[in-house]
Amino acid sequence: MPELPEVETVRQTLLHQIKNEKIKDIKIIYRGILENTTESDFCTKLTNQSIKDILRYGKYLIFVFDNVSLVTHLRMEGKFFIKSSTDEIEKHEHVIFKFYSGKELRYHDTRKFGKMVLLDTTDFVEIMNYPALAKLGPEANVCSDVEYFYNKINKLKTPIKTVLLDQTILCGIGNIYADEICYLSKINPLTLACNLNVEDATNILKYANSVLKEAILCGGTTIRSYTSSLGVTGRFQQQLLVHSREGEKCKTCNKTIKKIFVGGRGTYFCEDCQENKNITIVGLTGNIASGKSTVVEYLKKLNFEIIDTDVISRSLTKDKTSDLKKIMNQLKKFDSAKVEMIYQNECLDRNKFRMLLFEDETFKNNYQSIIHPIIKKEVLKGIKTSKNDIIKDNKKRILFLDVPLLYEASFDELCDNVLIINAEEEVIYQRIRKRNNLSDSDIAAILRNQLSFDEKIKRAKFNLDNINQAFDVIDNSTDLDSLYLKIDEYLHKLNK
Ligand SMILES: [Zn+2]
Repeated sequence: MPELPEVETVRQTLLHQIKNEKIKDIKIIYRGILENTTESDFCTKLTNQSIKDILRYGKYLIFVFDNVSLVTHLRMEGKFFIKSSTDEIEKHEHVIFKFYSGKELRYHDTRKFGKMVLLDTTDFVEIMNYPALAKLGPEANVCSDVEYFYNKINKLKTPIKTVLLDQTILCGIGNIYADEICYLSKINPLTLACNLNVEDATNILKYANSVLKEAILCGGTTIRSYTSSLGVTGRFQQQLLVHSREGEKCKTCNKTIKKIFVGGRGTYFCEDCQENKNITIVGLTGNIASGKSTVVEYLKKLNFEIIDTDVISRSLTKDKTSDLKKIMNQLKKFDSAKVEMIYQNECLDRNKFRMLLFEDETFKNNYQSIIHPIIKKEVLKGIKTSKNDIIKDNKKRILFLDVPLLYEASFDELCDNVLIINAEEEVIYQRIRKRNNLSDSDIAAILRNQLSFDEKIKRAKFNLDNINQAFDVIDNSTDLDSLYLKIDEYLHKLNK
């Protein structure tokens, strides 16, 4: 199907070939092409008219004559050919415009989906009032109005690929170029438009402009049946990054290009380069005895996905595993004597290990510098799995990352939002005293090992100002019922 660049190529070719040609006669073989006139009205009004200009809006071609205009849409298979009056009429040639010069403009359409509309005006504004044209959005190859575009799409719960094909929002983008635009904007075509931000909208417009302009320069893309009049073929297919490249390698990351169907249209994309934004990643953090684990238990009951970094950390340090061996070998480079003290026969003396972490700042820092990047890799794997699941069911998800040292270990950079669980200091002391039978000075020492609530808020505000990362605080100083109520309210807000 010809898209904007192909129609533009047709326009330029025709203008060059038949500008100022005067119609002597018209032969209509299939009258179903005419949309708003009778055969005789069509012929009477156009005979003895000269082609003054040929314009294009989106995928519409507009022939402007002395005092009428002819609006055409090629649809699936429509083509114009310039032939001579001595050439035989071929099958599928439905309307033939005969010029005084002996040239003929022939409309060819194997599927007969194309339409011609005759208007009694040559004024562009009046032409654009014709209903089919009036409902079209701005042209995608020139539109730079991010505010318009963002406001149009930011409430749509429709995949962006489908939105890009909606000619009332932006006109001129078809299936091929929509895939290319999504790829360059690094957006998974299944991402719902409402999950895109202003930056995404800016990128989409930027790449819609550049892709279409480049395609026009190349004379369009020749895929399947499209050829311009006189057999001119486009060269843009040589530059396609994803469209029609299923199974081939992504030019950015070397992974395999996939094909899926979005809104019934074959859609090509790179799973690694194009982010599916239908997922909100919430970093969940809170100090010891703040009640973070109670929140996690509640979220699990509600069937939320949770990636727990403590679980990952425990599985990485299981006795007699290659993971633990690797970690200890790396740690030996910093302090082999201490490692020999805690790690023997491929087993970890957990009590001694905990004591070291608690009492020896340098040891703790060294250990964390090894383990945190490994945990982060595992978390990223979990996020990717979750994103792949979205590709299957295309529902918006919330994924919680349960990370006690969210800010301390820079896991905040993986999150869209942060939820901080807090409780008043006195409540925290009471809970720990009851649970672990520790002295107040021991409790103070544990708390000193974590970023205080005030420091967490400082970091959260910094992220809000600098990377637009929202944060919320749930205070859990009272009873369970009020905690659950607060979580419910928070989830409601998040789902909006
Ligand atoms: Zn890629």
